[in-house]
Amino acid sequence: MSTQRSIFITGGGSGIGRATALHFAARGWFVGVADINAGGMAETLNLIQGSAKWAGPLDVRDRKGWDEALAAFAEAAGGRIDALVNNAGIGTGGSLSELDPEEIDRCLDINLKGVLYGAQAVYPYLQKTAPGSALVNIASAAGIAGSAGMSVYCATKFGVRAVSESLDAEWAGDRITVASVCPGFIETPLLDGTGNRRSNEQIRDRVRAAGLEITPVERVAEAVWDAVHGDKLDYFVGATAKRMAFAKRWMPGKVRKQLRASLRPLGQ
Ligand code: NAP
Repeated sequence: MSTQRSIFITGGGSGIGRATALHFAARGWFVGVADINAGGMAETLNLIQGSAKWAGPLDVRDRKGWDEALAAFAEAAGGRIDALVNNAGIGTGGSLSELDPEEIDRCLDINLKGVLYGAQAVYPYLQKTAPGSALVNIASAAGIAGSAGMSVYCATKFGVRAVSESLDAEWAGDRITVASVCPGFIETPLLDGTGNRRSNEQIRDRVRAAGLEITPVERVAEAVWDAVHGDKLDYFVGATAKRMAFAKRWMPGKVRKQLRASLRPLGQ
């Protein structure tokens, strides 16, 4: 088995996944990116110096595809996988009454089932590299509090945190690190979307109009690094996520009042 540590990152062709790939590559890790976006993956690979890198197509909804991608990656990485970042995800917004069943299924399948599939598939690899191996799931500030127009996305991100908490207990005996990273609003192409097929307004514009900050994507990559090397269950990134986590814990009644008063869907 190689002595170089390796990390497999889903959604590595863009945004948070790409920034995380570059962060770990710069610190000597063998990096694998998996995505449905072939062009994005190729670009990420180009940005990584050296040859300690791998990319392969993976739709995180494909359970068999997970086994194939991880096996191919482990072989390329010298027989080991030290960390998985379950990062691939999509934004979905809008009143529940207006969403098509297909939109609901797609978001649950990618954001939540994809995370469970990945955790299940990577478990034997992480057992072999423990202690020191890690599963990091990218949740969201939307996994801290539910809000109007966000029921489906919030359900997936609360769910991602639940998966992390459960596996933290389930894998404690294996000495595998498990954590969630909960970013607020992060500067990635996800903010270019509307989050809702009935809206023309970009998420980015709604965030700015609400006076909230947009955090540089590198802050999330740093949090993933901390999560792989640390022992906390949750890592909150950006002022919005930190504020929400604090308020939800210490003044839940006030948070509820504020969320009920805000009529416009906000946040991903
Ligand atoms: P992004 O820039 O849109 O990148 C997501 C990547 O995942 C894209 O390359 C996308 O491909 C890919 N992808 C989509 N569906 C996939 C699937 N089924 N299988 C494999 N890959 C798939 O988004 P991001 O902002 O970096 O988001 C990454 C994660 O962070 C998501 O889980 C998101 O919910 C979470 N997050 C983001 C923010 C934020 O403000 N940006 C805040 C909190 C949490 P396509 O481009 O082809 O769709």
